[in-house]
Amino acid sequence: MTDRLYYKDAYIRSFTANVISCTEKSGKYEIILDRTAFFPEGGGQPGDRGAIGSSKVLDTVLRDDEIIHICSSPESGECECSLDWDFRFLNMQQHSGEHIFSGVLHSLTGLDNVGFHMSESEKEVTVDFSGPVSDETIALAEKKTNEFIWANVPVTCFYPPEDEISSYDYRSKKEIDGPLRLVKIEGADLCACCGTHVARTGETGIVKVITSESNRGGVRITLKIGSLALEDYIEKNNSVLEISASLCAKHHEVSQAVEKLKEKQNDLRIEISNLNKEIISLLARGFTDEFPCVVDSRGSSDFARMLADAGASQVKIAFAFSGDDKNGYKYAVASKLTDVRETGKLLNSALGGRGGGKPEMIMGSVSASLEQIKAFIESVK
Ligand SMILES: [Zn+2]
Repeated sequence: MTDRLYYKDAYIRSFTANVISCTEKSGKYEIILDRTAFFPEGGGQPGDRGAIGSSKVLDTVLRDDEIIHICSSPESGECECSLDWDFRFLNMQQHSGEHIFSGVLHSLTGLDNVGFHMSESEKEVTVDFSGPVSDETIALAEKKTNEFIWANVPVTCFYPPEDEISSYDYRSKKEIDGPLRLVKIEGADLCACCGTHVARTGETGIVKVITSESNRGGVRITLKIGSLALEDYIEKNNSVLEISASLCAKHHEVSQAVEKLKEKQNDLRIEISNLNKEIISLLARGFTDEFPCVVDSRGSSDFARMLADAGASQVKIAFAFSGDDKNGYKYAVASKLTDVRETGKLLNSALGGRGGGKPEMIMGSVSASLEQIKAFIESVK
């Protein structure tokens, strides 16, 4: 069986190993080494990447207890191997941060971590807990987690003897095959885990709770940890600076400034609506028995509807058009006295339009000219 160097020292970045087997599979090569520092995907932590000789390691997986390096090209004999250390250290940071947070939340609430996922695309970690947790408790867990990080306590991994296992009070996500490996974070957590971790909590940097949402009777908490928390801070800080500059507001007052903007926008919407009503009532004076049609230039079907509605109080059938010859017209035809759907069919047929509606109101659009519209009204009034 492959000697698992990552369990002896999680900080090994390069090593020499012999290729035991190399098998081609779907255009890729599955390499097994006699010893490896590449961690295979497991316990929510992604498989390592890097290089075996001149071959690129795309992923590392565990299959039937064998560590398989999924590679871009074949290799043989003795090889110099190196890990994509940035990727591995990021995963160690994420994994260790999650341990501290889950251990702290467990000690505060007694709840278990029932799901853990590190999303490479979203650059975040999600942890699921077995019951609901209040916002105040989540905030307290975040505070205590970061206190453990700043205390820079050691993170140690060990295999307790079989007859002593029952004396340990440890968290366990699921039954793990093979000897029990416990990861201890002094004062914060004791958890069964197969992953790789930082040596001291300080290397985790920071753990920030981003969101918490109900999930299957429990709660799903999204965390930004270590360098991903810094990336997130940079991105959000840039957004705040942009909003702050654009609204001429202080950084910590942007949300109040946005609220004010929304209130102002709402006031303007009401003002526009009132002005439109006044314009409609003025324009509606144009509906006469001689010419029961009003044309306006806005190109708005809403406007045509309101106009026709107002006109229906003055003439038997009110025609309203909104638009121009170049872009076409939106129309509405309304009546309080007769079914306008037949008139609508005539209109669509004469002016190349489309639309329909109810007996008291039809709406649609035409691509005709103002001259053609006027001729049509003369023909049906
Ligand atoms: Zn772990």
